[in-house]
Amino acid sequence: MTISEVLFVVAGLLLGLAFKGGMLLFLIPFAVVAFVLACLNRPRLAGPNSNRSTSTLPVISIAKGRITNTNPVVAPDLRSEFRNENGMLNEPESALKVSQVWARANTDINNGMQGMMRAMKLVVPHVNSVVVFSQLDAKEWGVRNFVNDKEMSVNPCVRISENSGLVSQLFRSNVNRLLEGDLTSNKSLMYYADSTPIKSVAAVPILNYNGVRVGALVMDSVYPNAFNDQIVQALQYIAASISMLDWKGFYSAQNHIALQRYSGLYNYQRRFFQTMTVKDIYKQIINYVKDNVGYDRLTILAMNKVKEGTGRVVFCEGVDADQFAEKRFTLSDKGVFVLALLRNRHVERSFSQNFNEYVPRLNDNEKRNLNLRQLFVMPIATEPDSAQAEIAICLENGGEMPYSDHEKELLKAFAGVAGFAYDRARKFEHGRDMAMRDGLTGLINHRTLHETLRLEKVRADRKKYNIGVLMMDIDHFKNVNDTYGHPIGDVVIKGIADTISNEIRKEIDVVARYGGEEFVVGLIETTAEGMLETAERIRKAVQKLVFDVKQADPLRVTVSIGAFLVTPDFHDMKKAVSNADQALYRAKEGGRNQVIRFEEEPCEPVAPEA
Ligand code: GH3
Ligand code: MG
Ligand code: MG
Repeated sequence: MTISEVLFVVAGLLLGLAFKGGMLLFLIPFAVVAFVLACLNRPRLAGPNSNRSTSTLPVISIAKGRITNTNPVVAPDLRSEFRNENGMLNEPESALKVSQVWARANTDINNGMQGMMRAMKLVVPHVNSVVVFSQLDAKEWGVRNFVNDKEMSVNPCVRISENSGLVSQLFRSNVNRLLEGDLTSNKSLMYYADSTPIKSVAAVPILNYNGVRVGALVMDSVYPNAFNDQIVQALQYIAASISMLDWKGFYSAQNHIALQRYSGLYNYQRRFFQTMTVKDIYKQIINYVKDNVGYDRLTILAMNKVKEGTGRVVFCEGVDADQFAEKRFTLSDKGVFVLALLRNRHVERSFSQNFNEYVPRLNDNEKRNLNLRQLFVMPIATEPDSAQAEIAICLENGGEMPYSDHEKELLKAFAGVAGFAYDRARKFEHGRDMAMRDGLTGLINHRTLHETLRLEKVRADRKKYNIGVLMMDIDHFKNVNDTYGHPIGDVVIKGIADTISNEIRKEIDVVARYGGEEFVVGLIETTAEGMLETAERIRKAVQKLVFDVKQADPLRVTVSIGAFLVTPDFHDMKKAVSNADQALYRAKEGGRNQVIRFEEEPCEPVAPEA
C-alpha cells in the first residue's frame, strides 16, 4: 500500500467517525475504490500479448573497438571513436575519410532522433525527459540521446545493466512496455545525475531487425499518471522509426564509403589506362597508397626478372628509408616483404610493445626498428592466382591499431587493377623496346637514332650548344666473320657496343647500332676538342679489347671513326650523320683505326697512328 492509499483510507475513517458511525456502510465502497486506484498505479508488467504494435525494425547495434565495415556501428561509443579519429583510424589526407562519413551518419541519425524526441516532448503534456538508450554490449545499455528540462540533468555516462533500475526491466524478453504513474523515488530510474522527483515513466524497448533488444525509448514526468496507453503506443512507433533511421543511416554511410572507394579505384583505373610505362605505374601505386592509407614507412618492391628471382626496392619513404632505397634482394632472402612476393599472399603483423625480436623486412643485415609495430604487405601479381607476385606494397606504422579492414580492402581491390596495368605497361615497354632497340646489343636502332638526334637538336638550339656526331665502323670485319664465324662476329659487335657505352656519359650521350657493324654516337653539349677526345678514347678502348677465341692468338679489332660537329647554325641532322660518314670513309681510306673530323676540304687525320 502506498502512502496515498493509507491516507485515503484514514481520511475515509475520519469522515465516518465525523458522521458517528452512521455512515459506516458508506465507508466500505470508499475504501475499495481507494485500493483499486492504488493497484492501478502499481508498475505494470505487460504480458506477451501486449506487444501488438511493437516493431521488428532493425536498430544498429554498437560494437566495441574499431569501426569495421562488417560491424554496424552507429551508436554512443562512436563519439569516442571520432574524437580520436586520426590516431585511431590511421587515415592520411584522403578524399575518402571513412571516419568522417561515419561521424556524419551519426550526426544525421542523432539529429533525426532528436527531432522525434523533441516532437514527443512538445505534444505530450508534462514530459520531463525523453531518453534513448542504446546497447554498449550484450547486457549493458548507455544513454545515447536525450531531451529534457534543463534544471534536471540526465547523466549521459550512466550504464544500465540487468536488474539496475526500472528501465532494465526492458531487458526481459516478456516486457514490451512500461507504464508507471506513481513512482515514489527517483532511485529506480538511475539515469538522473541528481535526485529528480519523477512520478511517471513510459518506456518501450528498441528492437533490431532480428527482434533483439538493443535499447530503449523512455519518457518521464514529474507528474503522477502523466502517460497512458496511447502514449506508450506512440513511443512504440517512435522506437520503430529510430530503428529504421539507424538502419538506413548505417547503410547509406556504408554505401557512400563503397561508392567513394569505387570511384577512387575507377579514377586510378582511368589513369592506369593513360599510363604506359612501368615507371609511371609505380608512381600511380605510390599516389594511391598516399591517398588512402597511412604509414610511417612505405616501401615498394618490384621483381626485376621473375625467372631469376631477383628484385629491388623501387620506392621507400619514411622511417629509416635510406637503408632500403634502391636495395636489391633475391627471393631466397627471408624478410617478410620478400615472403609476400614469393607466395603472392598478403602479410599482416602486429608486434607487441615488449616484442624484442625483430622480424627482418628484406634480410638480416638491415637496421632494426622495433617501433614500427604494425605491418601490412600487399602483393601485386599480373595474374591474380599466380604463384609469385611482381610488386609488393609494404606498409608499416608505429601505431597501436593494426591496419583496418577498410584499408586492407582498399589495397586488395587496388592490387587487382594495378597488376593488370603493370602487366600491360611491361608488355608495352617490351614491344616498344623491340621496335626501338637492337636485339643483339640493346642499343637504339637506326630509326630511333634519327628521332633522338632530332629531339636533341631542338634542345641544343634552345640552349645554343653543339652536338658531336661520331660514325664508326669495325675495320676488316668481313675477315673476322670469315675466320672465326658469324657467332664470334656477333660477340665482337656486342663487345664493341659495350665499350662505346662505357666511354660516353650515361643518360646524356646517345649511341645507336646504325647498321651491321656500324655505330653512331651523339655527344650532347660538346666542343670540337671534346668530341675528338671522346672519339679517340673510344678508338683506343676498342683497340685494347681482347676476345678469347680459344686459339693461340686472341682476337683484336679496331674501328675507324668519322666525326662531325653540329654547331647551332647547322640544322640538318641527317646531313650531319652523312658528313660523319664521309669523314669515316676518309678514315678508312687513310688506313683505318683512326679518327677523322669532317671538314669541307681537306679532311685531315686527327691522330695518325704510327
Ligand atoms: P672495312 O674495314 O672496310 O669496314 O671492311 P669490312 O670488312 O668491315 O667491310 P664492311 O664494313 O663493308 O663489312 C660489313 C660486314 O659486316 C659484312 C657483314 O658480313 C658483317 N656484318 C654485318 N652485320 C653483322 C652481324 O650482325 N653479325 C655479324 N657477325 N656480321 C655482320
Ligand atoms: Mg660496314
Ligand atoms: Mg667494316
